[in-house]
Amino acid sequence: MLKRILVTGGAGFLGSHLCERLVEAGHDVICLDNFFTSQKTNVAHLLGRPNFDLVRHDITMPVWLEVDEIYNLACPAAPGHYQFNPIKTMKTSVLGAINVLGMARRCRAKVLQASTSEVYGDPTEHPQRESYRGNVNPIGLRACYDEGKRAAEALFMDYHRQNRINIRIVRIFNTYGPRMHPFDGRVVSNFIRQALGGEDITLYGDGFQSRSFCYRDDLIEGLIRMMNAPDDFIGPCNLGNPHEFTMKQLAELVIELTGAKSKIVHEPLPADDPVRRQPDITLARTKLGWEPTTQLREGLAKTIAWFRTIKVGDYRPPTPNY
Ligand code: NAD
Ligand code: UDP
Repeated sequence: MLKRILVTGGAGFLGSHLCERLVEAGHDVICLDNFFTSQKTNVAHLLGRPNFDLVRHDITMPVWLEVDEIYNLACPAAPGHYQFNPIKTMKTSVLGAINVLGMARRCRAKVLQASTSEVYGDPTEHPQRESYRGNVNPIGLRACYDEGKRAAEALFMDYHRQNRINIRIVRIFNTYGPRMHPFDGRVVSNFIRQALGGEDITLYGDGFQSRSFCYRDDLIEGLIRMMNAPDDFIGPCNLGNPHEFTMKQLAELVIELTGAKSKIVHEPLPADDPVRRQPDITLARTKLGWEPTTQLREGLAKTIAWFRTIKVGDYRPPTPNY
């Protein structure tokens, strides 16, 4: 059935690809974005499509639209971006959640929250299952994002219990792919940009901290499956690739795949940087029949190929923190 679907943060890295998928499926798609960490060029190719609308709006302000489904992705996601204006980041998560939930209540829409593995903080349980309550520093530099997303989850659950809003919560683990902002400061975009530019690769700390990287297309498939899951499965549900790599391994792989001559240089580890991160995706496997199909080597090769096609000078660094 064709639906009217709102994607907040729809011009971003994940949002723009989600909009593409939904437009291709024939849905009537509204992309809402304030372009803090993205630019219009991400969705320029969709602008001529009769089933695509672009709204420049800040989700901390109420929004009045008639839709059947909402994917709530609006929020800066890279540490350098969300720490640039931490108070605004918290407002985006909390007021953004209240605004989309209020809208969902009024027009009886189903609403999915893009939460994050950061709700687990620096985890003491490994791999992380949805039942794990996390180890977050509530007063640290990452708290604006981690606690903002945790508050948003609480709001989603309370609107669900109190107002019977049809909700979904997914906890997304590190995702990468074409259309990442080249200056977002995240590890994959940094390493690829540095390797292709012939610069040194900046490995923070000893490089033995781990992450599990999910390719963009796998993640988007997971988001859509979660939205379409039966109403008795609202999550939270982890979405990510369970294959764990150290940052040192990632740096070496990027050098190998780009053929770069870059040296690896060590820089200080950022505050509260989680040591290990790996999703347990049993729930997604059993409830959604979902698991990632793109492994890191293949996904990185596609991402590198995309980075080769862009001119980084065409991208506006959203913050000075890259
Ligand atoms: P992104 O920064 O590319 O996208 C976020 C989008 O939200 C941008 O287009 C930005 O301009 C927009 N935005 C920010 N604040 C806004 C506001 N106040 N009003 C309207 N729009 C606003 O990041 P992404 O990687 O595409 O992340 C999308 C969502 O997925 C985020 O909510 C993020 O927390 C979540 N997530 C992503 C990852 C990942 O690894 N990519 C991991 C966990 C969670
Ligand atoms: N990192 C790194 N070099 C960089 C950027 C990041 O070694 O140039 C490390 C960072 O310290 C962290 C990991 O890579 O341990 C992932 O960082 P990212 O900012 O991509 O995501 P997050 O920390 O939110 O998982």
